[in-house]
Amino acid sequence: MERTYIMLKPDCVQRGLIGEVVSRIEHKGYKIVEMKMMTLSEKVLREHYAHVADMGFFPELLDYMMSGPVVAMIVEGEGVIAGMRRVMGPTNNFDAAPGTIRGDFACSTSFNIIHGSDSPETAEIEIKRFFG
Ligand code: UDP
Ligand code: MG
Repeated sequence: MERTYIMLKPDCVQRGLIGEVVSRIEHKGYKIVEMKMMTLSEKVLREHYAHVADMGFFPELLDYMMSGPVVAMIVEGEGVIAGMRRVMGPTNNFDAAPGTIRGDFACSTSFNIIHGSDSPETAEIEIKRFFG
């Protein structure tokens, strides 16, 4: 069965939205097969966000992602990688429609509640990165 890496970001935890977001994943019919709370190091974040390391927002992204604990998950289901990206909503906050997690709970492209792998290749790498 297909698996993806999902991470509830520090703003999700700080705003008391863990239950709400986990509930949406479960209600969709996906299965949470691993879950842990952790605080991320700058080293692992520089790996995880290497694709945006040259962007102006990168230093702010590092601070944000280290501002508190995250909840890391492996989520399983048919077509779950693309499916979770749809449940999350797109990166650009204006495009994240109501009904999606980002559309309902985030009002910023930067502080956007949730991470989800964007392809089978990144899902495999990210699951290894955070769960070994
Ligand atoms: N991000 C940002 N400003 C932008 C684009 C991205 O602060 O203009 C942050 C945001 O937290 C996003 C993360 O960088 O989730 C990684 O960007 P990516 O393009 O991988 O978006 P995602 O896959 O999270 O939708
Ligand atoms: Mg991404």
